[in-house]
Amino acid sequence: ALATNQLFVVHQPIVSTHTGRVAGTEALLRWNHPERGVLTPPVFLEMAEESGAIGPIGDWVIRQACTDARSWMDTHVVDGSFVVHVNVSARQLSDSGFVERVMGSLRDTKLEPLHLALEINETTMLNDNPAIMRTLTALKRLGVKLAIDDFGTGYSSLSFLQRFPIHRLKIDRTFINELANDANARSLVRTIIAMANSLGLDVVAEGVETVEQLHALGDLRCSKAQGYLISHPVTPETMASTVAGLDKIGKWPRLRPLK
Ligand code: C2E
Ligand code: MG
Ligand code: MG
Repeated sequence: ALATNQLFVVHQPIVSTHTGRVAGTEALLRWNHPERGVLTPPVFLEMAEESGAIGPIGDWVIRQACTDARSWMDTHVVDGSFVVHVNVSARQLSDSGFVERVMGSLRDTKLEPLHLALEINETTMLNDNPAIMRTLTALKRLGVKLAIDDFGTGYSSLSFLQRFPIHRLKIDRTFINELANDANARSLVRTIIAMANSLGLDVVAEGVETVEQLHALGDLRCSKAQGYLISHPVTPETMASTVAGLDKIGKWPRLRPLK
């Protein structure tokens, strides 16, 4: 699929709840299968992991995301604080050549490391692999940002915050789902945000689908949000018009936290 250009990347905007501006995007892999149409990662990721194909595929996604970020920055679709997020798996991080190849993509696309964030899920952090630790430390030294994906769904969440060089937490969408109706979910999200603040970490709410959820996040002073309400993932070519549309939404007064 990689060799015959059947893979492509779509990007989902991440907005600042303070300003309504697009602060970043998350690259999401798609496979345009000749018989089955467009497939999403849950269908093929495990196969890619098991076969080892995730290595070259993952490298390709990073390069593609850096290329898209460079072009949006050059054309002022996004501003200088923009960060492109890419998901990476444990298998990618345990490969000793990974950091070198990330550096290669950044160099070739002339993207500064601070504009790239790698998303790692909690389960990846759980396996105490020294090779992964070495990779994460090297990435941090390079200036690449690290985000914990699906935060709150794993187990030893708190101990790894101490051990790993993390910048950002992405609160899993199961918590966001219940936010508007459930006081417990609200308490949990409030607690995660307070913890992140005191550790100096940035927070992104994942899977925001309703205006009520977005308002609740504003009230809790969650700094960033992502989800179908704001935008579905879009192709790199449609990012400019997507951002232009979102700038209008940014003028909704309640998108900003209450004073
Ligand atoms: P993720 O990193 O947690 O990405 C968010 C997933 O939630 C995406 O599914 C996205 O399309 C979906 N989503 C976004 N907003 C909403 C919403 O408001 N409601 C709901 N219900 N869903 C929403 P997708 O694209 O199918 O990706 C699934 C997972 O596959 C990702 O979860 C990520 O873990 C993995 N993945 C995606 N691209 C890559 C990649 O390039 N490399 C690796 N290693 N994993 C990837
Ligand atoms: Mg992710
Ligand atoms: Mg996630």
